Amino acid sequence: MNKKIISVIIPVYNEEKTIKDFFDKKLHNVLDSIEKYSFEVIFINDGSSDKTNEVIKKIVDENRAKSNIHISLISFSRNFGKEAALSAGFYYSNGSAAISIDSDGEHPPKVIPDMIRKWEEGADIVTGIRTQYTKHGLISRLGSKVFYKIALLLDNQYIKPNATDFRLLDGLVVKELNKLTEHNRITRGLIDWLGFSQAYINFKTSPRLAGKPSYTFKKLFNLAIDSFASMSTVPLMIISYFGLSITIGSFLLGLFVLIQQHIMGDPMHLQWNGAVQMAIFITFLVGLVLVAQAITALYISHIHTESKNRPLFIINSKESLNFKK
Ligand code: UDP
Ligand code: MG
Repeated sequence: MNKKIISVIIPVYNEEKTIKDFFDKKLHNVLDSIEKYSFEVIFINDGSSDKTNEVIKKIVDENRAKSNIHISLISFSRNFGKEAALSAGFYYSNGSAAISIDSDGEHPPKVIPDMIRKWEEGADIVTGIRTQYTKHGLISRLGSKVFYKIALLLDNQYIKPNATDFRLLDGLVVKELNKLTEHNRITRGLIDWLGFSQAYINFKTSPRLAGKPSYTFKKLFNLAIDSFASMSTVPLMIISYFGLSITIGSFLLGLFVLIQQHIMGDPMHLQWNGAVQMAIFITFLVGLVLVAQAITALYISHIHTESKNRPLFIINSKESLNFKK
């Protein structure tokens, strides 16, 4: 009897030092111990500049004879980013379910059997929730707290705090996810948007096996900005409201000056001179400019959303891929 396949998707970028240990010592044992399913492991080499590709090819070769684990490698033509790597992995996966996991050892594979159990119990999506920060510095930690707080304010339906990219998706969810073609991809946001029944599983992040995280603070900050911009137009609305209130406020103030000083002859003895009146007028204009800008930005953001039709990633070579697409 043919066993059901579960895909394991691993984005890899400059991990020559971690990837072999991660696979041989951590992931392999866990997959080996699950007899109920066959596994299709897909490494996506996201344009690494070190020896990652060679190391993965070695892993592919060493495991060729295995009957319950099939390993393949997709190499990008350049670094497209983790989100694109995940997209490629999901696109080429054939499993009844697909699990995405980091290659640096921070996501413990020993949680996988529990994930699978929750899926068998009926959850379409099982998301790994990080319960402890073991690696990030204070700034990143604070940054991530602030990010989730703001995200919650802006768009509270879409982001769950401490959710990671360590997750299992039912094959059906993968199929739907593959239909979403936008470029500003935050996979976890897209998956939450899709709906389906979710389950969560807590895990403690293990320390990175070796090397440095490639997500610098700057990259994370940009990611945060990107996800705000792609998930909601609230920042845009804030600017328009701000501009609008400046315009209305200074318009009323100007009206007050006109009536109080010029029509009624300054009964309140404010004696606001030309400079003050000019300042009020300029503030009024600044407000108008902000409003106009926000309206323009709104249109641009719509065009932007529609015009994203480049491929999400470009593949250089495929190694031992089971199925052609
Ligand atoms: N990664 C990737 N492309 C990139 C950056 C990272 O495929 O441009 C992979 C990386 O190899 C790792 C995972 O994404 O498997 C998480 O990356 P990292 O550990 O650098 O980030 P963090 O753990 O801070 O989220
Ligand atoms: Mg990491």
